[in-house]
Amino acid sequence: MKFTIQAACTNTSDPDKEEALTIGGIEGESIVDGPGFRYAVFVQGCCFSCPGCHNPQLQPFTGGRRIFIEEIAAAIQANPLLDGLTLSGGEPFTQAGPCASLARRVQNLGLTVVTYTGYCWEVLVSGDNRDWRRLLEATDILVDGPFIHELRNIDLRFRGSSNQRLIDVRRSLAEGIVRVLYP
Ligand code: SF4
Repeated sequence: MKFTIQAACTNTSDPDKEEALTIGGIEGESIVDGPGFRYAVFVQGCCFSCPGCHNPQLQPFTGGRRIFIEEIAAAIQANPLLDGLTLSGGEPFTQAGPCASLARRVQNLGLTVVTYTGYCWEVLVSGDNRDWRRLLEATDILVDGPFIHELRNIDLRFRGSSNQRLIDVRRSLAEGIVRVLYP
């Protein structure tokens, strides 16, 4: 998951008082962070410490920069080639509230949302966390579970280790059972 830091926030309001994310970087046109052509946002901060993590610089909860979700949504809307948004990191569920709001805005544009997380599906759906639920419900494909170096497989689609699943979120929530894409 390589990415570049894009231009700094130009909005003159205060991102700490509006709905904003702390991010480590953005890749505006990615073909490796989910199916299709995607706008990938890498949040700053992760509560997991997976050995072999591809983005260890995104693990600390210090650093990064604040950016309004409106600014991200506008950038996505401005690119007609995009299939959707990918939320990665870092751990998106540590900023689930603004991630959910951004994801919903992107879905309302008719685009898809892929969210990467170190949490397993079973933990996310059993937790009593309103923002986690909002983010799940605004996600089309969830790539779940930590990266496990011993299970690393470079032939897998859109994930690094074989414990990770590409979950069809809408179907899984509706049926109450995990439905996996690209097994
Ligand atoms: S969950 Fe992802 S970002 Fe966090 S430590 Fe593991 S591989 Fe790195």
